[in-house]
Amino acid sequence: MSNLLNRRNFLTQVSTAALATSLSTIPLITPARQVNQQKPLGLAIIGLGNYSKGQLMPALEQTKNVKLVGLVTGTPAKAKEYGEKYNIPKQNIYNYDNFDEIARNPAIDVVYVVLPNHLHKEFVVRAAKAGKHVICEKPMALNAAECREMIDACKKANVSLSIGYRLHYEPYTQRIMQMAKEQPYGPILMVHASSGFRMGRPIPDQWRLKSQYGGGALMDMGPYSIQGARYSTGLEPIAVTAQMFNSDPKVFDEVDETTTFQLEFPGYIVANCLTTFASNAHFLSINAQKGEYGLKPFSGYGGIHGFLPNGETFDFPKMNQQAAQMDGMCLSIMEKRPSLTPGEEGLRDMIIIDAMQESVRKGGTRIVL
Ligand code: NAD
Repeated sequence: MSNLLNRRNFLTQVSTAALATSLSTIPLITPARQVNQQKPLGLAIIGLGNYSKGQLMPALEQTKNVKLVGLVTGTPAKAKEYGEKYNIPKQNIYNYDNFDEIARNPAIDVVYVVLPNHLHKEFVVRAAKAGKHVICEKPMALNAAECREMIDACKKANVSLSIGYRLHYEPYTQRIMQMAKEQPYGPILMVHASSGFRMGRPIPDQWRLKSQYGGGALMDMGPYSIQGARYSTGLEPIAVTAQMFNSDPKVFDEVDETTTFQLEFPGYIVANCLTTFASNAHFLSINAQKGEYGLKPFSGYGGIHGFLPNGETFDFPKMNQQAAQMDGMCLSIMEKRPSLTPGEEGLRDMIIIDAMQESVRKGGTRIVL
């Protein structure tokens, strides 16, 4: 365990502030540019699937506050290929069975869980018990009860827990959060948020189609629409209504292909949202009293574009979202500050998702949160 982190004191110093993390107080910064002068933290990634291989591991070549030093995989061929590619020492490579031995490895400070959703809780809890700080991909878990267990495990172990909400670390989203606070176009009246992609046809058998693995559009892409509605208003929803649709009941026999939902916020603000595997959908629009503004696209890895009333637009220089996210999260660990995207943030979304599933089960009933 690295001395610089002094985990014993970690939570004592950040606890109250972490719980009170508010979207409206997030500063307009790009954490990637903030570099800690201390030695970068060592990170081990669990699950060498598409997101790890295609985005996170390449991004870790650009990070300043954290370096990829360990791998956890169930596939020996991947351990060899990516161990060699990223120059990972053999003693830092684990499988799912011997993962708990990571507790005795002082080179690894942080573990990043990038597994199918049904495994998030198990590996976050095991990482916390091993005394490692944890980053966990979205959606945080299968339901709110699991999220609470994960938060408790990390508190008990005195380690940090961050959820992989990369958009909080990029400037377009930060601008939208700031506009929620400043309301430059008057009071916000309504929000539309859509996030989805068209799954390639024929759709291959995969965990995203299985309910026991936490599959479905709502679990996979829904968090972007929920987050968009929450951070563009700076408010928490008070009620939710949801509807699910499937174009092919043979393929989508367990999970939703499309979910539409409405979030009601205080002040009669309604967010009309969609999430889907049936078509590409990437926009966030905010209707304020003096005009409409937002992001289109809004949730991709790059190419985000901002629009304002009267045909004006805004853009920021290109950046690597995942590098900014991991640098930002690790900087907060090093400086013993609360994460911008703590476990409590994932829990809030999961409470909303649980309520949406209840709404669908009850035939589209309005569920008060
Ligand atoms: P993937 O299917 O490409 O990879 C999953 C990995 O988990 C594979 O390496 C697989 O071998 C391994 N695995 C271990 N146990 C498994 C099991 N029982 N069943 C299936 N696979 C198992 O998935 P992915 O697209 O990399 O997604 C992983 C996580 O990352 C998910 O939680 C997903 O929501 C999240 N994700 C986040 C973003 C983002 O932008 N934040 C983008 C993509 C994925």
